Amino acid sequence: RSGAALAHQIPQKTRASTLPVVCRRYLNEDVRITRTGKPILTVAGGRSSLGGYTATVFGATGFLGRYIVNRLARSGCTVIVPFREEMAKRHLKVAGDLGRVVFLEMDLRNTASIEESVRHSDIVYNLIGRDYPTKNFSLEDVHVAGTERIVEAVAKYDVDRFVHVSSHSVDKDSPSEFYRTKALGEEVARSIYPETTIVRPGPMFGFEDRLLNRLASPSNLITSNWMQEKLWPVHAVDVGMALEKMIHDDTTAAETYELYGPKGYTMAEINELVGKEAFHKRRHINIPKRLMKPIAHYMNKYIWWPVGSADEVEREFIDHTVDPNAKTLEDLDITPVTLESMTFEYLKSYRSYQYYDLPPMTEREKREEKKYLHVID
Ligand code: NDP
Repeated sequence: RSGAALAHQIPQKTRASTLPVVCRRYLNEDVRITRTGKPILTVAGGRSSLGGYTATVFGATGFLGRYIVNRLARSGCTVIVPFREEMAKRHLKVAGDLGRVVFLEMDLRNTASIEESVRHSDIVYNLIGRDYPTKNFSLEDVHVAGTERIVEAVAKYDVDRFVHVSSHSVDKDSPSEFYRTKALGEEVARSIYPETTIVRPGPMFGFEDRLLNRLASPSNLITSNWMQEKLWPVHAVDVGMALEKMIHDDTTAAETYELYGPKGYTMAEINELVGKEAFHKRRHINIPKRLMKPIAHYMNKYIWWPVGSADEVEREFIDHTVDPNAKTLEDLDITPVTLESMTFEYLKSYRSYQYYDLPPMTEREKREEKKYLHVID
């Protein structure tokens, strides 16, 4: 029967609300045209759907990497993961369907390997960063020279989008080399590829973080600033969500985002939260900066596992600063979660086996700060 005849049978109200909507959805949502004119099929069919973007994620083997690789792969994107250590990338394989997560060996000084990683992609994320200098790479090598090589490859192959993950508190005149080199890295990225989206995450917390896990680990806690630095911690899942939204929204190109949590804490306040959640108090030793910096410098130089560095001591004396002109998580329609709402989730494994299945506290117990102790045997 003809459409007009069918329309005649549908009651007036239903006809107006259903028929045009079907056409609009197919036209506007399922096919996107990138800056270079490539049509992308974005059918929301989950990890096995065909089509979708091809994204390269440099630094995917780190803490934040899994939260973006997982999100992209489960929506059917093809994710290229450049890696340098076989074992560090294994967990990412299962994030996507067969053939969706593609590993390529890469070296930050090998331009050919970087170009190979980006040449077929629609978007490149650069998450590469280091908190401390290593034997083979200074902070400048990683944050400035490394960024330069990646952005040059992105510009050479005319990749549609480039998202560069920098850091909070970046400043070219900062006493910390980390913040200085991160600021220079941003400048290099924007000078070569002006549409670079810059993302400045605050200190991130999550299962594999270096914030809660450091405070909860059983060794002594050594600081230099009596834990007085002020931070605005952000949930790694929120940052992953923000990075994923950027792929679908081209208005985020050439913008700067500061991603930070809704509540600020001093490090001492976070330490107290961690102590309460993990049910143990750690010994805190404060060593003055003039002593701690040379100690940390030599430990970082001669001990081959991460033990802190002189620059990390310097960063203890710098509060988290936020650029008021930058966009935030709210501009991406994400409501950030607070640190204290997630500490139980991330710290319960640090509790002694004696504390298990705690019933909710009554008002009186909360007032008296009494805790249950379950005796098993
Ligand atoms: P991680 O230290 O966990 O991961 C860093 C990644 O960079 C790893 O994949 C690492 O590879 C790679 N990388 C480091 N140096 C090199 C190098 N010389 N050559 C090749 N690859 C290298 O960082 P996060 O995931 O925690 O952070 C992601 C980004 O966010 C980083 O740029 C970081 O500086 C920034 N940031 C993080 C904050 C946080 O609280 N975590 C706060 C503010 C900014 P490999 O696994 O092979 O070592």
